[in-house]
Amino acid sequence: MQFIDLQRQYQHLKKEIDENIHHVLDTSQYMMGDYVRQLESELAEYCGTKYCVTCANGTDALQLALMVWSIGEGDAVFVPSFTFYSTAEVVSLLGATPIFVDSDPRTFNIDTKKLEKAIQKVEAEGELKPRAIIPVDLFGQPAEYVEIKKIAENHNLLVLEDAAQGFGGSINDKMACSFGDISITSFFPAKPLGCYGDGGAIFTDNEEYYNLLTSLRIHGKGSFKYDNVRVGLNSRLDTIQAGILLPKLHAFKEFELDRRNEIASLYTEKLKNIVETPVIREGYVSSWAQYTILLKNEKERQSVQDRLREADIPTMVYYPKPLHRQIVYQNYDFNLEDLLECENISKRCLSLPMHPYMEKEDIDKVIDNLVNSVQEERNHE
Ligand SMILES: *Cc1c(COP(=O)(O)O)cnc(C)c1O
Repeated sequence: MQFIDLQRQYQHLKKEIDENIHHVLDTSQYMMGDYVRQLESELAEYCGTKYCVTCANGTDALQLALMVWSIGEGDAVFVPSFTFYSTAEVVSLLGATPIFVDSDPRTFNIDTKKLEKAIQKVEAEGELKPRAIIPVDLFGQPAEYVEIKKIAENHNLLVLEDAAQGFGGSINDKMACSFGDISITSFFPAKPLGCYGDGGAIFTDNEEYYNLLTSLRIHGKGSFKYDNVRVGLNSRLDTIQAGILLPKLHAFKEFELDRRNEIASLYTEKLKNIVETPVIREGYVSSWAQYTILLKNEKERQSVQDRLREADIPTMVYYPKPLHRQIVYQNYDFNLEDLLECENISKRCLSLPMHPYMEKEDIDKVIDNLVNSVQEERNHE
């Protein structure tokens, strides 16, 4: 069994994907070709934003957004500690300081009460200037944007939505990638909408940000390519990747997102009495980048993971180490009680196979083996 079976998806969409790749080869429009423009317009329409700017990957997308706001030395940016490294890495790369905030163990997203506390603390200390919040739509579920936007307004902070895993999620029918002042996603192959290499996109309603982003992604260009008016990046999406993404976006909208939600419901229905299953808030839709359960403790997780591996069922631990525990942040000063939940989650979380081409027998096999493994482990105690 595959954790994410990209081959099955390719076999399903092969004709269109192959045609588009060959079209790029036949027309030699490798950079910024028509597929890029078409993809940007379809993505903006789907997410309900005025503008979409594609770029080389999700990490660049985050960095470009922070560059639009000139975030750098002396600035504080609030991020969840329980996320992929990129969310904090770009803050550090630009010389600003990430402030790590705890997560809600039911939704895995940033804890808004602790966010408010963390902002007040930085304000009171007066050493760093609070500038932005980067909420992450972890595992596919949007963060609590109603609360987050109130907090951002009260403290005059910008919101950068990291929807690298969240593409396709929604809150009361408003789509992910539309919640931030700027929002981003990633097309890394394993994300809900992935290409066959690296890719990313940035979304905004703000025309000034949009104009800066189109300049920053191509070496800070001015009116034309050899007019360089600011320091930027080389961060374009390849035309071939855009050509791959177009049919994948159509399949995502037509049935993949629904199928992911069906599989998640099957998992939850059969597993909720034996392990802690993920909680989707009222009115929210997840795109299920990951389906992540919580076991009792680290020992139980290890033995369940081992038993599943023996049955040829791959599982993953996202994430084994919260960011405030990473070596790069070893000098980061924190109170343990402020980050207890993410430490706890990182010891107990386990992500199960999840992709829209999973067949009923695979889903049943995961459920049966997981239930048996947990029961055997608990009988053993
Ligand atoms: C994958 C990911 C990124 C980075 O995206 P890349 O395209 O791999 O650079 C950023 N944030 C989160 C939460 C991610 O999961």
